[in-house]
Amino acid sequence: MRIDILTLFPEMFAGPLDCSIIGKAREKGCVNINIHNLRDFSSDERHRKVDDRPYGGGPGMVIKPEPIYKAIASIDSHSEGCIILMSPQGERFNQEKARKLIKRKHLILICGRYEGIDERVRENLVDEEISVGDYVVSGGELPAMIVVDAITRLLPGVVGREESVKKDSFSEGMLDYPTYTRPAIYRGMEIPSVLLSGNHLRIEKWRREEALRRTILRRPDIIKKDRK
Ligand code: SAH
Repeated sequence: MRIDILTLFPEMFAGPLDCSIIGKAREKGCVNINIHNLRDFSSDERHRKVDDRPYGGGPGMVIKPEPIYKAIASIDSHSEGCIILMSPQGERFNQEKARKLIKRKHLILICGRYEGIDERVRENLVDEEISVGDYVVSGGELPAMIVVDAITRLLPGVVGREESVKKDSFSEGMLDYPTYTRPAIYRGMEIPSVLLSGNHLRIEKWRREEALRRTILRRPDIIKKDRK
């Protein structure tokens, strides 16, 4: 899969997209991520300005349409419907959306800043808008990283044991079961004895029950209606 990210702060992506699971996925070629600096597409060569004051007045600055149009034109291979704007006004991102997005060959993520981007970009260029939740952060970079991470870990060959992704919270309309590791007793706190029983059927049943119990308690809204 190819992902292009348009941003005013390319340096923010170094780190989160370079290490651990995402870094290895990039090294292995499971995902090809390219970061583009919108300032490289400014028509103002001296100050590389990409924003201006809002028409009609009001606070803050708005990203102009031109650098975004030019940046997108510079990306060679486009597939239909791949341009996504990060926006608190978009469709709320979740695991199901991540699973839908991995079916695409190519995604272009636009990160807004300041008061946002010129509305004409949203109306005429953008195919869809994604929000990471009902709160406002300062720019689309952290939201884009969340989307890229959630998608990349679902791509084939990225997470070593694929069952580990399949049993993750939200994957089957359930939260994940509780996990423990050594030592079996820490500061007097014991792990559930079933986990030491060596009886895989019992362990499996316990895990299913615990996952269901906590899903009912914490997130009854995610339980699939058609679940048997
Ligand atoms: N005035 C805008 C918010 C601007 S915040 C509004 O109220 O709708 C600046 C940029 O941060 C946005 O353009 C968007 O790209 C990004 N952003 C902020 N919150 C976000 C969220 N919850 N999900 C995705 N992107 C977000």
